[in-house]
Amino acid sequence: MQFFDGHNDTILKLYMNKNIDFFSESCEGHLDIVRARRAGFAGGFFAVFPPPHKGLSVPNPEDYLTEEGYDAPLAEAADHGACLKVTNEMVNLLYHLEERANGDFIIVKDRKQLKKAVKKGKMVSILHFEGAEAIKKDLSNLESFHKKGLRSLGLVWSRPNDFGQGVPYRFPSTPDIGPGLSEAGIHLVKKCNELGIMLDTSHLNEQGFWDVVKYSNAPIVATHSNAHALCPISRNLTDKQLAAVRDTNGLVGVTFSVNMLRKDGKMNHTTTSDEIIAHIRYIADTIGIEHVALGSDFDGTTIPDQMKDVTGVPQVFELLKQEGFSTKELKMIAQDNWIRVLNETWKS
Ligand SMILES: [Zn+2]
Repeated sequence: MQFFDGHNDTILKLYMNKNIDFFSESCEGHLDIVRARRAGFAGGFFAVFPPPHKGLSVPNPEDYLTEEGYDAPLAEAADHGACLKVTNEMVNLLYHLEERANGDFIIVKDRKQLKKAVKKGKMVSILHFEGAEAIKKDLSNLESFHKKGLRSLGLVWSRPNDFGQGVPYRFPSTPDIGPGLSEAGIHLVKKCNELGIMLDTSHLNEQGFWDVVKYSNAPIVATHSNAHALCPISRNLTDKQLAAVRDTNGLVGVTFSVNMLRKDGKMNHTTTSDEIIAHIRYIADTIGIEHVALGSDFDGTTIPDQMKDVTGVPQVFELLKQEGFSTKELKMIAQDNWIRVLNETWKS
């Protein structure tokens, strides 16, 4: 089954490890073009995430254990200039991959290109920023990033920026931590609507999420988040948030990150792929099969050992089939839902 994926950090992996080659099969990480092809990976959102630069503290939940789980503070804000530099380098890296692939790996920028690439079986890459740190507060460089191919933007990672605040990693906890979007954040939402850049609410706190619901006229999307009812971590979506996704004809990409799957919120790699099925089942039953898809977080987190890497995705579809999902429903989860949301969100 050919599938689309809502989130990977493969560009970050390649940026940090110059000796890993995207075009050779590797046992490092979760995703390269060889394993992706074998798994049926038709395309996905390739995140540009400027990692915390030197001197910034990024709290590790393991250092903040509580009786029931963990309670990490919010990471420090990152510097715009440093993030801009790294972002440009990472965007260039993605273009370099496209160039080397000779037409087999395409950074897709409009609906026509998307349709054509899918039809021809070319691997699709959508340029996504995980956190808007590289965007100037006055939005003066947003259009140039759009021209460069930016078609999906996560307003925040789990840290504050000029536009809003992400959730710190807490378990158990609601996502209702911290204030909503700033004035600049509201402008950013509207400008993204205008340009047809998809907005991603994963990592955003609950107040911020409701601000996006209020000010955006596009489908509400969480590219890599799960159901809070099954795993009450601050990063997951409550039933009320899921309903808002449904009401805007949006989408949740179910993430394979084990701490967001398990009911104890632990970063435990022995978690089975059955937990992925449980979240997909719950979201489909709660808001409808049209609103659930995949959002792995390959190369960005710990995934179940059973899955190993991207080549474990076909097994997920096998499990979904055993769970009783029809072929048509599997296709919706695999790619039709993602393609619908992109078609509804992009301007051309
Ligand atoms: Zn993430």
